[in-house]
Amino acid sequence: MYRDIFKEEHNILRESLKRFVENEIVPHVDQWEEEGSIPKSLFKKMGEMGYLGIRHPVEYGGSGGDIFMTLVLAEEIARCRSAGVMAAVTMHTDMASPHLARKGNEEQKQKYLPRIISGEIRCGIAVTEPDAGSDVAGIKTTARRDGDSYILNGSKTFITNGYNAEILFVAAKTSPEAGHRGISIFIVEKDTHGFSAKKLEKMGWLASDTAELTFEDCRIPRENRLGDEDRGFYYIMNNFQDERLVISAICVSHAQQAMDDTIAYAQARQTFGKSLSQHQAIRHKLADIAIQIEAGRQLVYHAARMYAWGLDWAKEISICKAFCAEMINRVAYDCLQIHGGFGYMKEYPIERMYRDVRVWSIGGGATEVMKNDIAKRLNI
Ligand SMILES: Cc1cc2nc3c(=O)[nH]c(=O)nc-3n(C[C@H](O)[C@H](O)[C@H](O)COP(=O)(O)OP(=O)(O)OC[C@H]3O[C@@H](n4cnc5c(N)ncnc54)[C@H](O)[C@@H]3O)c2cc1C
Repeated sequence: MYRDIFKEEHNILRESLKRFVENEIVPHVDQWEEEGSIPKSLFKKMGEMGYLGIRHPVEYGGSGGDIFMTLVLAEEIARCRSAGVMAAVTMHTDMASPHLARKGNEEQKQKYLPRIISGEIRCGIAVTEPDAGSDVAGIKTTARRDGDSYILNGSKTFITNGYNAEILFVAAKTSPEAGHRGISIFIVEKDTHGFSAKKLEKMGWLASDTAELTFEDCRIPRENRLGDEDRGFYYIMNNFQDERLVISAICVSHAQQAMDDTIAYAQARQTFGKSLSQHQAIRHKLADIAIQIEAGRQLVYHAARMYAWGLDWAKEISICKAFCAEMINRVAYDCLQIHGGFGYMKEYPIERMYRDVRVWSIGGGATEVMKNDIAKRLNI
């Protein structure tokens, strides 16, 4: 299927990832969910397999792959039965490190990118603050110039990989009076004096660390600023497009897995003298689920094709993210319902899935924000 976009090289990557997820991740996820963290060795193993630099340039150790390679990674890693593991990995590969690959200068890329791709260091992107999430322009963290350095002060919250990552790309106001035109991005190393991180307790994504970060007079060398001063808002918005495609692909993959599990359950479970899957109400529910998943998949592949063809895909990406994030929540709800009481038990994967996917209509651009963007692009 989809032979126009997935060629032999994509299929080879998919097969390799499937084996890796099955053998190296799935057997451990219950333990990692319980412990609330993922061993660094997983990143190293993924680095050795070449999974952490799929689209990064070859000269830094990446594979220089296309956007469809990214889709393969997103779809397969999403099947590892822990969205926490998936979040930690895709944050590293597709949400944080592209900032460096796109806007880093040669020295910065030489210094960090090979180690990110090999899994020696982990990374994250820190934009959200206690008082500013959807409204990125409203961030309050400041970076004041002081000779050859910037002095960073402020706090961030909900930052994926924020506790364990060795480096973070941090958004801060360099021209506080200039609103969205006054934001810059800085590479902040974990051991910077004045930086601290605290893990947050949450509903799902238990294996991934989500942290609150504090910056108290952190001295950041000028050479750690990514790209131009005051252009950070545009860099963030630009990277959001890729991030939202990856999130949408993950939502579709999660939904497919939930449906596969639910069909197997409904076929095995007997009620009123026949299997659950033979009751028409359940059959229709499963058919509705299949329709929604296919619609989501087509939106994802359509947006990815537009990107590959060099077309403006901004509206399509917002449509895709809004649809897929809501779709997976509906699918998880219906799949759990079909499982009955067993769906509420930790023994069944749908229980974790239901908790894990709730965040998708909030993170990476909430549904309401996506709809605002779609309306803007409809010129209404
Ligand atoms: C598990 C998790 C991991 C995350 N990881 C990261 C990360 O690694 N890095 C990072 O920077 N951030 C991260 N985030 C933050 C995430 O991107 C924000 O939560 C998200 O952008 C929403 O911001 P907020 O939570 O401040 O909600 P708010 O912006 O306060 O919005 C609250 C609600 O109001 C709605 N709303 C807001 N404005 C409008 C409007 N104009 N019209 C209508 N409705 C509106 C929103 O859609 C939302 O439903 C993460 C969040 C979670 C939960």
